[in-house]
Amino acid sequence: MAHTYDPENIFAKILRGELPNKTVLETAHTLAFHDIYPQAPVHVLVIPKGPYVSYDHFAAEASDAEVLDYTRTISKVCEMLEVGEKGFRLISNAGELGVQEVPHLHVHILSGRPLGRMLN
Ligand code: C5P
Repeated sequence: MAHTYDPENIFAKILRGELPNKTVLETAHTLAFHDIYPQAPVHVLVIPKGPYVSYDHFAAEASDAEVLDYTRTISKVCEMLEVGEKGFRLISNAGELGVQEVPHLHVHILSGRPLGRMLN
């Protein structure tokens, strides 16, 4: 997949403070915030602060510190949201077939209702 990062994407603007967000947790390398159009009672997005388009881009080019911070922050947010006992889903859409709207890596954390076999 193409890894050309567009610095004008909406999440880049959120990271620069040009657009508001409802922050759940912010760390050195990661920001977690509530999705503006929630698809479930719990719907949080977790993004790295670095300029990565998708998971494969991030995994290939991010530093160990960024990868560790990102994975641990996803886990920490799940803990904060108390979704572990009943269950949750992590999704990261990439590219055209993945129907990725915002070209900055994000993992969706979804919970709070039965999610079905797949999210459309
Ligand atoms: O995975 P995908 O790229 O399709 O998802 C983008 C997500 O970003 C959507 O769930 C949308 O509601 C969310 N969004 C947001 N705040 C914005 C713009 C989009 O939470 N300002």
